[in-house]
Amino acid sequence: MLNIILMGPPGAGKGTHAQWMSTDFQIPHISTGDMFREAMSSGSALGNQIKDIVNRGDLVSDELTCALVKERLSKPDCANGYLLDGFPRTLEQAKAFREMGKEIGRAPNLVVNIAAPDELLVQRITTRRVCPHCGASYNVVTMKPKQEGICDVCGTPLIQRKDDNEESFKVRLANYYKSTAPLLEFYREEGLLHEFDGTVGFVALKKDITALLQEIQK
Ligand code: ADP
Ligand code: ZN
Repeated sequence: MLNIILMGPPGAGKGTHAQWMSTDFQIPHISTGDMFREAMSSGSALGNQIKDIVNRGDLVSDELTCALVKERLSKPDCANGYLLDGFPRTLEQAKAFREMGKEIGRAPNLVVNIAAPDELLVQRITTRRVCPHCGASYNVVTMKPKQEGICDVCGTPLIQRKDDNEESFKVRLANYYKSTAPLLEFYREEGLLHEFDGTVGFVALKKDITALLQEIQK
């Protein structure tokens, strides 16, 4: 069983690697960032409530986030594994998730962390383009789509996320170091943490993560 938490600073490559992990291992990709962006673009009450927070790079409240994750993870498609991307992001969320995971029978059994240095992160984030329809992400320098400005997967015009600017990125990175990085120690102590170097290139990292997942799945 693969109940995976995917971690790493913004721009480390979580979304990019989540795509093939979800397909290759047939587990749903659950991204709290995607869920929040969907709520924002649908103009729901939740979306309006969180819009300003998300766009400036700050974190949504633990309470709202945990409720959203609990509802999503309880669905039957998560019974045979899941890939959680972007959650937990604070120690409070991790502690709440420890209880919730047991309660709904969805405790995580591994944490994949992708690390990368700050200089690389800011460069990747400001040149990133994403598909607002399927969530695929591209880079105007290093991972161009086949046709400029168009998603390879679904043909939708690509956009730049509102929080993918230098100012919001700084807030996201500061929040990462302050609130999220301490979780690495938390999961190391639980014996769940597996660390990867996000600077090695897509193919090499995919190979390493695949080897780990195959080993754990046995
Ligand atoms: P990143 O590229 O920064 O990892 P995400 O797509 O995971 O971006 O998240 C985008 C935004 O959604 C975050 O900056 C934050 O505002 C909100 N968000 C996502 N997940 C969480 C979470 N677990 N707790 C609080 N806020 C979250
Ligand atoms: Zn797409």
